[in-house]
Amino acid sequence: MKSRYSVFSLIRNALKHHQDWPKVWRSPEPKPAYDIVIVGGGGHGLATAYYLAKLHGLRNVAVIERGWLGGGNTGRNTTIVRSNYLWDESAALYEHALKLWEGLSQELNYNVMFSQRGVLNLAHNQHDLRELSRRVNANRLNGVDSEFVSPQQIKELVPIMDLRENGRYPVLGASLQRRGGTARHDAVAWGYARAADALGVDIIQECPVNGFRIEDGRVTGVETGKGFIAAGKVGIVTAGHSSVMANLAGFRLPIQSVPLQALVSEPVKPIIDTVVMSGAVHAYVSQSDKGELVIGAGVDHFIGYGQRGSMPVTEETLAAVCELFPLFRRMRMLRQWGGIVDTCPDASPIISKTPVEGLFINCGWGTGGFKATPGSGWVFAHTIAKNEPHALNAPFKLDRYQSGFLIDEHGAAAVAH
Ligand SMILES: Cc1cc2nc3c(=O)[nH]c(=O)nc-3n(C[C@H](O)[C@H](O)[C@H](O)COP(=O)(O)OP(=O)(O)OC[C@H]3O[C@@H](n4cnc5c(N)ncnc54)[C@H](O)[C@@H]3O)c2cc1C
Repeated sequence: MKSRYSVFSLIRNALKHHQDWPKVWRSPEPKPAYDIVIVGGGGHGLATAYYLAKLHGLRNVAVIERGWLGGGNTGRNTTIVRSNYLWDESAALYEHALKLWEGLSQELNYNVMFSQRGVLNLAHNQHDLRELSRRVNANRLNGVDSEFVSPQQIKELVPIMDLRENGRYPVLGASLQRRGGTARHDAVAWGYARAADALGVDIIQECPVNGFRIEDGRVTGVETGKGFIAAGKVGIVTAGHSSVMANLAGFRLPIQSVPLQALVSEPVKPIIDTVVMSGAVHAYVSQSDKGELVIGAGVDHFIGYGQRGSMPVTEETLAAVCELFPLFRRMRMLRQWGGIVDTCPDASPIISKTPVEGLFINCGWGTGGFKATPGSGWVFAHTIAKNEPHALNAPFKLDRYQSGFLIDEHGAAAVAH
């Protein structure tokens, strides 16, 4: 595909005060009816629409977003991507996503700035050591790149970390996934939106879905801020508000919604070229291309829908980060924000049919769904198109909370990322 953004258009638009950039996607009024309506214009919803059109030839599709694209958790997350989950089911799903990440900029002809700079998970005590080595071994059995590194190797990778034996949080080793890293979150939403729009998908922003029309147990459309839109099938992908949507459709989810926050520092010269995370101290750090330290925290300890984090968690996180990186003590934080994450009892997502015929749901990614964006959209598109899950998401059905076949990923998802 030829790029619409040559160096000449850059100069031309700069001279015109950036007034006349071509629209990257259309903003159509909704049609009265679609074959498929996707509720939620985050990365997962947009990826679903893209793969429905691209892989399943289903182009009479609309994405309905109540705010702006990527304005939910997609644009609020700390962009860490990895696939080193413990159980076979999760490893297969997240590894599928990671493989899609590796070709995503080419696939979308849009630079999502995927940077495979490696992800370190630190072990601070004997329990961490045992958990991480178990996970490294499980990863390798599943063909996921993963290795255990010693404090000496960590020192070489991250010289600014405090690795003294008598430190507040002694570092006994770490797992390392070299193919993990970061990506540019907004670009992922924009890239999928542009590609889906080019295939005929209607993207409708500032249009809340306020209800579902259900007749004889089957969904027939959505009630929106722009009126009723009929739909043959509906997919709900509204992270942070999944149980609100399920409630509107008349079923319940085993989900708790909690605020999760992150911070960025003032920009500095490159000082850390990998991602460092610690489940024990609930903090993690990477450095953005602008030079800001991107610091993630743990979740607030109460249920809430305010898109901000609470001060005690900020303080706890920064205290831990300063212990691990004494150099950061003199840095100033530029801004802090939060998102609402839907957490499941087994820390694994739900990608499933629902009790309502024709209504599907993709939710419960908790603190770590950004990394899954391409894979999540890919399997959800398959599930909606074929009316049955793909082998990769079959274990992530809603009824596992009745059958007891849980996929407990609390270890791999322990620190929010
Ligand atoms: C601070 C923070 C840090 C994180 N860090 C990481 C990380 O480093 N790595 C990682 O893998 N994951 C991370 N996550 C988790 C990750 O952001 C999410 O799991 C993921 O982005 C979910 O994507 P989504 O597209 O499902 O959700 P969203 O991007 O939240 O999209 C859902 C959309 O639904 C819309 N919506 C809601 N209700 C309605 C309605 N009634 N009608 C229409 N639209 C509606 C919302 O406006 C929103 O745009 C983090 C999350 C937070 C908050």
